[in-house]
This record gives sequence, C-alpha cells and structure tokens, in this order.
Amino acid sequence: SVSADAYRRRHEIIVHGDKVPPPLMSFEDTNFPSEILREAQAAGFSAPTPIQAQSWPIALQGRDIVAIAKTGSGKTLGYLIPGFIHLKQRHTDPRMGPTVLVLSPTRELATQIQDEAVKFGKSSKISCTCLYGGAPKGPQLRDLDRGVDVVVATPGRLNDILEMRRISLMQVSYLVLDEADRMLDMGFEPQIRKIVKEVPSRRQTLMYTATWPKEVRKIAADLLVNPVQVNIGNVD
Ligand code: ADP
Ligand code: MG
Repeated sequence: SVSADAYRRRHEIIVHGDKVPPPLMSFEDTNFPSEILREAQAAGFSAPTPIQAQSWPIALQGRDIVAIAKTGSGKTLGYLIPGFIHLKQRHTDPRMGPTVLVLSPTRELATQIQDEAVKFGKSSKISCTCLYGGAPKGPQLRDLDRGVDVVVATPGRLNDILEMRRISLMQVSYLVLDEADRMLDMGFEPQIRKIVKEVPSRRQTLMYTATWPKEVRKIAADLLVNPVQVNIGNVD
C-alpha cells in the first residue's frame, strides 16, 4: 500500500521476498497480548522502531528472516516478541527443553538480551535463562534442569553443555542468530553449525547482522529457508 511504501522510504527499509506484509507502524497495529503492550508502555516506547515495524509481521507469519541493520535499532524485541507469541502457540513443556533459542556472540550481549526477555516475558510467565562462558556451569545447569522456555546463549558455552548432554534442543522451533557477522568474526562458525545440527529442521530461523559479507551470506543460505530479507538504513 501507499502508506507502507512511504514508511519504508522514510525509514530506508528495503525488503526482498514474496508478498512481504506491510510494516506495523504503531503498537495499536499489532495484535500483541496486553501484557506485552503494557510492558512497552511502561518502558516509554511510543512506536515500534523501523526494524520492529517491518520484521514483526513477517516473523508472525512464521517465515524466516535475515535482517541487516545497525546496532541500536531495537532488534532484540524485534525477534523476542514474535518468539514469545510463537512459544505461547506451541504449548511446549519447558522441562523437555527450550522452544526459543537465541545465539549471541558475547556474555555481555547475551545478558542484555536475557534482561530484555525477562522484562517482557515475565508477565506472560515465560521462563528464560542465559548460558555463557567465564562463569561456573552449576547455576546454569540448575536452571536448565528446572526447565526453561527461552535460552539465550553464547555458542561456546552452549556447545559445552550440549556435549555434556545436559540440554536437549529437540523442541527448539524458533532459532535466532543475533549479530551473526560478529559470531563468525569471533570464530564461532563450527560451534554454530554443531548447535544447529541438534535443532530440528522444521523450525523458524531469524538471522540478524550489521554487515552482509560472503561468509554471512553463506551461512544464511545454509541455515535459512526462503528468508525474507529486510535491510534498514542502507547498511551494505
Ligand atoms: P540492537 O539489538 O538493534 O542493537 P536493542 O534491541 O539493544 O538494539 O535496542 C536498543 C535500545 O532501544 C534498548 O535500550 C531498547 O530497550 C530500546 N528500544 C527497543 N524498542 C524500542 C522502541 N520501540 N522504542 C524505543 N526504544 C526502544
Ligand atoms: Mg542487539
């Protein structure tokens, strides 16, 4: 529609894919559960950011996404909120393993995502935990044993815990690779590929990256199925 095109032009959004739904330009346009809308209001958010506006309706259709956008654009809630809605539709048992898995390059970024997930998921009774290196495994394993819906993890620590057979990814159906370019720069590609082998291929996969070099294109081609590409702010 005209307003969707105007919004995309104004916010430098370029989309590639079949029948890409129009951006959700305001929170009223979303059908998000009231608990989540309340959190957005409490946080003082007046409108979705462009990456949220455009990626929410695509993610809610269950489609794979590769989003190229710079940092600070609100990507975390861009994938977490559709992930929460996906989770609620699944009625999975968290003791069988997480349904939503987010891979993030560093402990610092992973804990930031975890904080956002706790804040926006708590009122919907969504449980989540964060797995990262440089800290004892004990508390992380205890959280996993209790059962969690959402796991945010660095590839190294998750891989260690997988090798210990202390987590099952058999129930994961919503997989996010956040800051994919940075994870590859840090040498995590082998760990990422091992992790993804444990996730069923019937899943939704979302990949976020700030740059779009050939290594990132290659892993996107291998792990995503017919993704919609969302490019914001003429990055790359
Ligand atoms: P990115 O992952 O793209 O770097 P983040 O998801 O970390 O960005 O978001 C950056 C900041 O913007 C965070 O403090 C977050 O709480 C805030 N934020 C997220 N969504 C909105 C919104 N719709 N309106 C205002 N601020 C937002
Ligand atoms: Mg981020």
